[in-house]
Amino acid sequence: MEHLTVTAAQQCVLESVKLLGAESVKLEQLLGRVLAEDIRANRDQPPYDVSAMDGFALRSADVANAPATLEIIEDIKAGDMPQKTVQAGQCARIMTGAPVPPGADAVIRVEDTQAVSDTQVQINVIVKASNDIRPRGESMKNGEVVLQRGTEIIPGAVGMLAMVKRSTVQVYRQPRVAILSTGDELEGLNDPFDANKIPDANTYALMAQVQALGIEPVLLGIARDDPDELRRYLQDGLKYDVLLVSGGTSVGVHDYVRPTLEGLGVQMKFWRVEMKPGHPMAFGVKDSAFVFGLPGNPVSSMVCFEQFVLPALRRMMGFTRIHRRTITARLAQDVKHMHSRTEFVRVMLSREADGYAATPAGAQGSGILASMSRADGLMTVPADSKGMAAGDKVTVQLLDGTAYQIDAGGEW
Ligand code: AMP
Ligand code: MG
Repeated sequence: MEHLTVTAAQQCVLESVKLLGAESVKLEQLLGRVLAEDIRANRDQPPYDVSAMDGFALRSADVANAPATLEIIEDIKAGDMPQKTVQAGQCARIMTGAPVPPGADAVIRVEDTQAVSDTQVQINVIVKASNDIRPRGESMKNGEVVLQRGTEIIPGAVGMLAMVKRSTVQVYRQPRVAILSTGDELEGLNDPFDANKIPDANTYALMAQVQALGIEPVLLGIARDDPDELRRYLQDGLKYDVLLVSGGTSVGVHDYVRPTLEGLGVQMKFWRVEMKPGHPMAFGVKDSAFVFGLPGNPVSSMVCFEQFVLPALRRMMGFTRIHRRTITARLAQDVKHMHSRTEFVRVMLSREADGYAATPAGAQGSGILASMSRADGLMTVPADSKGMAAGDKVTVQLLDGTAYQIDAGGEW
């Protein structure tokens, strides 16, 4: 129970967390949220048959043979309503998006015509019925579901919501997340410099990981390794949906986090995971609050966030795609694996002729943030691996930021 594999621990976390309730959010603030309602069209779009081109609306029967010369009876701009009916031998000058006038059954683009006079145009090509006409309701029909509950709101969905005039929408609530660091040795960002202390990196690295998911966390600060002080901080942290506490979760005599949480009524689900980095990793539940006891070492804490906290937060927010995207890459150099835990190796990715190459991003110690700060991804080394060799195919979880690259179609 207390010692779990990565997969089992992830499953335990994901079975425990629940989708949060819905809230009403303004269109301007919706990017990155998940719809908690079906969205229906409130009109046909386009509202009538419209021209797909700048050109001439005509009767296809008149241009069964080309070239043919037609009389121009009016000019129809987008936003205008046609005033006349197109009769045999006639056409109307029409702009993209303008309604096709009665009598006309096709549009020819201006590039396939040539002016004869102010009132006459020569059509150079044969035109078939319905050519370059966008029929009424082509984009959406009144009453149809245009976006389903559970849809991730990307810019295209924001455009669609504006198209159906939804100024507010029901989306799943975001979890309120609190972050707490623990340790007598920690020096706060604004504390005076002390060469004997260790700067509190975890508060801010975790903050950024939470922010990358679109959530603004609350920073609780640093609790000292003192049971009473820790208890006060943890009690405060349990008021949030999710509490991330780093350090003090191991088995040292001053590692009070686990017993203190238990004393506060938190049911610990597990407190060790067979992984590297990140061995001392605890997870507990109290009422509707979830606590992640993350390891103190900065890289361990970040890697545990990636494996357990990130999918949990995304599930709470209603996402279906809760995990980091993985890709297959070729390992650029040998990687040893001398233990029986799942290992996450910080790697940099580059594009090769036939895919991606993964190169370890530097020293992999669990406190060495330098390699984490330039990693494109985390390569998984399975627990039962006997080591990996250059050229092996490996699986890499993309870290945030790697969804972008330098050149279109080029290097990362
Ligand atoms: P712990 O799990 O408390 O034993 O901490 C393990 C290691 O991580 C120790 O070397 C700590 O100094 C370090 N550590 C703990 N918390 C932080 C933090 N917030 N920022 C940077 N390093 C930390
Ligand atoms: Mg500590």
